[in-house]
Amino acid sequence: MAPNDVTMTTTTRPPFSRGWALTASALLAVVVLVVSTAIAPTSQAGPTTTGPRTSAQVPAAQPSGPIRGYIDAHAHIAASEAFGGALRCGRPFAPGGLAEAMADCPSHSGTGHFALLEGILGGTDIPGGAQGFPTFASWPAHDSQLHEQAYYTGIERSWRAGQRVLNNHLVANRVLCEMLVGSPHSCDEMDQLRRQVDYLNRMEAHIDAEHGGPGQGWFRIARSPEDVRRIAGEGKLAVTLGVEASEPFGCRMIDDAPLCTAEDIDRGLDEFASWGVSTVFPVHKFDNALGGARMDEDLAGLAVNIGNKLAAQRFWETRPCTTDASDHAQPLASTPVADGLAAASSGAPAGAGLPVYPQEPLCNVRGLTPLGEHAVRGLMDRGMLINLDHMSVASATRTLDLAEEAGYGGLVVDHTWSDPALSRRMHEMGGFTAAFAYPPDPTENFDEGFLDSWRATTAGATRPWDGYGFGSDVNGLAPLAEPRPSAAADPLVYPFTAPSGEVMDRWRFAERVYDLNVDGVAQYGLYADWITDVLHRAGPDRAELERQLMGGAEAWVATWERAR
Ligand SMILES: [Zn+2]
Ligand SMILES: [Zn+2]
Repeated sequence: MAPNDVTMTTTTRPPFSRGWALTASALLAVVVLVVSTAIAPTSQAGPTTTGPRTSAQVPAAQPSGPIRGYIDAHAHIAASEAFGGALRCGRPFAPGGLAEAMADCPSHSGTGHFALLEGILGGTDIPGGAQGFPTFASWPAHDSQLHEQAYYTGIERSWRAGQRVLNNHLVANRVLCEMLVGSPHSCDEMDQLRRQVDYLNRMEAHIDAEHGGPGQGWFRIARSPEDVRRIAGEGKLAVTLGVEASEPFGCRMIDDAPLCTAEDIDRGLDEFASWGVSTVFPVHKFDNALGGARMDEDLAGLAVNIGNKLAAQRFWETRPCTTDASDHAQPLASTPVADGLAAASSGAPAGAGLPVYPQEPLCNVRGLTPLGEHAVRGLMDRGMLINLDHMSVASATRTLDLAEEAGYGGLVVDHTWSDPALSRRMHEMGGFTAAFAYPPDPTENFDEGFLDSWRATTAGATRPWDGYGFGSDVNGLAPLAEPRPSAAADPLVYPFTAPSGEVMDRWRFAERVYDLNVDGVAQYGLYADWITDVLHRAGPDRAELERQLMGGAEAWVATWERAR
């Protein structure tokens, strides 16, 4: 889910400041979610079937040798099935085609309940009538976070541009799901994950059916590094599975008492292995029975902290950090105003008072628990990549120590959320790095562009950078890259030559035609344009960046292989 952060060379500066509006929105969003008591049913447009498509031509096979292609190491293409199934409007595919999958939802337009939330999250005007199919006038859009961002023809466009791996994180959050009263599906996190596995299998079958039958499509689920190499060797897209859940295996914590056992963890990890899971986040957003979380910052931090209170029955507890690495500063720092607010809220019902934190680098007091150490060892035994993003400094440091003792390099940071010092240590130990897919240059809402982030991350490393990835976080309640102001003087020129060598014009999507310079990354297909634009803006670094990005899929799968 949303990484409200970029990798920095210093740890105290607030990154990706979407400013007051976004962070305030995040708080309001949680409040809206908390108070919501009913939702309108999701719209199901009639089955407007589209005819069979002509079989896509698969790019030249690449039977042996290193994979040449880029990786999106962090996406949520099946998130329409997560959180109970009601939060999002639109789906990445549907039996009835685009008209069914990307139809407007009453709940998300007009005075619909989620239309309000959509406006708050995006910091945009509340849409009067959201417009998807067939004009796509108002969604998908880079700042529309509750509408589908990964319709499969867009994924196909990015694959044609040179993408060879899409690592899809199955995503789950019980607290968010339970806030949405009326969710059609179970809020149990393992159930949320299972639904997404089923859904992806159906998505693969749907695309296969368009291309001549089982095994014929370009979208192939890969359950092992060998699968990835075979699929990429055929010139197709390997779709791998990760897990970004807040209480995996039922590992909720209440007042420091775990609600799961070592046996639950073993059973859950075995189930993940049966799905062919590549990557696991032991901790995500909230403190859980496995470890402490890396706090969100600003008012988003306050909102997520309220979630932490709902999940774990307590707010985050912090202490001064003992190294240069720190978790994020919190919005209610100890100032006369904040102290007054805290005093005023002390008369509120038990537990309703908001926490106030010191104004200094903060570290979550919680690190890896004994159950968390058991989970980390279980992940190493099964050769799964351990994701450090969202772990507190203490949790991540202990994980790195355990991996180092075991000589294990199966580590990953894939959407720029971990402390930079820990990410550097991970890289030196053999881990893989992908950065959030920021606009190439800084923009109003993104303090740092992808290029500066890449330069800062890769500078001064001892271990060479064979490959580098990006994490789109599509459908992860994250805004996608907005247009860069520099496009006015130096646009991406259409048609462009993608890294694969394919010449591509503006993307036509039903009645809509997208232009990256104006629309930003409105949805997945624009990653073809985005990666070309990032390379275009890299100046003298272009050749080196292209080598690393087009070596990204290879470097990621090699990291997975070494872990097994
Ligand atoms: Zn995510
Ligand atoms: Zn995340």
